[in-house]
Amino acid sequence: MLILLTNDDGIHSAGLRILAEQVSTLGRVVVVAPDRERSAVGHALTLHAPLRAHEHQPDWWAVDGTPTDCVSLGIHGLLKATPDMVISGINRGANMGDDLTYSGTVAAAMEATLMGVPAFAMSLDSSDFTAEAFQWAARVARTMAVTVCEHGLPADTFLNVNVPAGRPNGIRLTRQGKRIYEGAVVQKSDPRGNDYYWIGAGELSFQDLDGTDFNAVEAGDVSVTPLHLDLTNYAALERLRQWQMSADFLADGDVEADE
Ligand SMILES: [Mg+2]
Repeated sequence: MLILLTNDDGIHSAGLRILAEQVSTLGRVVVVAPDRERSAVGHALTLHAPLRAHEHQPDWWAVDGTPTDCVSLGIHGLLKATPDMVISGINRGANMGDDLTYSGTVAAAMEATLMGVPAFAMSLDSSDFTAEAFQWAARVARTMAVTVCEHGLPADTFLNVNVPAGRPNGIRLTRQGKRIYEGAVVQKSDPRGNDYYWIGAGELSFQDLDGTDFNAVEAGDVSVTPLHLDLTNYAALERLRQWQMSADFLADGDVEADE
């Protein structure tokens, strides 16, 4: 088995190193990861600058791009082969609820899915990110890799796995939960008396809804959420049909370029 690993915390992250150790028993592991922290870059793709890859040690590539760049470059440029699986993580901190679209960790798994490669994202919900703290999550990752290899994944589907701190109680299938962002922007003054703003420094909480990722991890369980790329809200589609949207913008004749 050929497994491609990436993350958004950068190639020197303890979570990535322990993940590589755990899954290396399953086959050849190739790491293609950002050369620095790239958390919260979402699904960003570098289109207007060259990318450079440096092989730190055999099969460990540091790229000056985003997690999505790493998956794309890894598969099309460095491996020159389609891996059997892509695993992204293990992230320093959970990726649950409405946080998912900010996450570079989750986006890397999404990118692999776009390329038809089975993938999952791994995140650790903890405030301790020492090598020891990642041990249980790395074991979970190995089990997930074996399970995904055995069963495959439904088309256009990838998994978002979140692991609680310490020894998990068990494992649960979940749905995406609901984040509560309070005081989303903090305003302060710098030493020169000028205002500055900091996003994401406010209190974070979540709605305690049954069956959600937050709910499972809060109870000490590993959360496994199947995600897909189609963001269409099908229920809303039915409701919006009742709008009977008008195309009356056509009634004023052609725009200038068409004349
Ligand atoms: Mg991160």
